[in-house]
Amino acid sequence: MLDYDLHCHSSISDGTLAPAEVVARAAGRGVKVLALTDHDDTDGLDEARAAAMRHGMTFINGVEVSVSWRSHTLHVVGLGIDPAYPPLAEGLRGVRSGRGERARKMADALAKAGIGGTLQGAYQYAGNPNMIGRAHFARYLVEAGHCKDVKSVFNRYLARDKPGYVPHKWAALPDAIGWIRGSGGVAVLAHPGRYMSGRSSMGKKTMHELLTEFVECGGQALEVVSGSHTPEQYAEFARYAAEFNLLCSCGSDFHGPDESYRDMGRLPDFPLGCRPVWEAWEKNKM
Ligand code: AMP
Ligand code: MN
Ligand code: MN
Ligand code: MN
Repeated sequence: MLDYDLHCHSSISDGTLAPAEVVARAAGRGVKVLALTDHDDTDGLDEARAAAMRHGMTFINGVEVSVSWRSHTLHVVGLGIDPAYPPLAEGLRGVRSGRGERARKMADALAKAGIGGTLQGAYQYAGNPNMIGRAHFARYLVEAGHCKDVKSVFNRYLARDKPGYVPHKWAALPDAIGWIRGSGGVAVLAHPGRYMSGRSSMGKKTMHELLTEFVECGGQALEVVSGSHTPEQYAEFARYAAEFNLLCSCGSDFHGPDESYRDMGRLPDFPLGCRPVWEAWEKNKM
């Protein structure tokens, strides 16, 4: 079992717990090294780091950057970043800036599909209004009785090509990796299995092209053990990591007690042969 959890969310983005609550939960579940990786925002890091110190845990500054690559939305996690590095801070501000207008368009689209009041409703769930996103809409739609859970809201309304989906242009891949690397962080391609499943997913050829470009841009690691991967996908992406000489990362992608694929920590070990991403920052100490 791994006692590293290098991917999770707080109410600074679309998690349901405050940063200190996320840290307390991780500590209670045996996590020794934690990264908080909110979407496109680093405002939770100070609170999380202070809480991690109280729990005697090692804390890693993280972020999960939303990226548009070809017709796909990808997520790139930065680990060990410096949130004060101006190109990163300004880059993330730019990525966040489109969210308000996108939310209005989503509400209009949902209204056309017969569901009103969703803009106000979604904002009630957004701990940080700058980071309004689909998960906040999903929580409101559940509360208003349109679906039984968040997963069903995505399947019916918010996933790509569904009535409430609004296409959006996020950061470019070389920019996201450049901001992370420039700030001293390690760039990790998050949950690659998600890009290969569902509608409009990419095939193996496109995944090869993506990983080639990711490495060319300075990407260093692949999330192999993810809360959204099956055990078969751990093995599949361990092979991709070996092929592309990438380090391997692990994280629950926890968003909250009631709606995550898995709870924090207690992640299964990497498949044999994986080089853990923490080699990138622990090697100097060994
Ligand atoms: P956004 O950045 O606003 O497009 O929202 C993306 C977030 O929505 C992801 O980080 C997940 O938290 C959530 N999400 C995306 N797809 C699903 C899904 N199929 N089921 C549940 N949550 C999802
Ligand atoms: Mn999320
Ligand atoms: Mn993600
Ligand atoms: Mn995530």
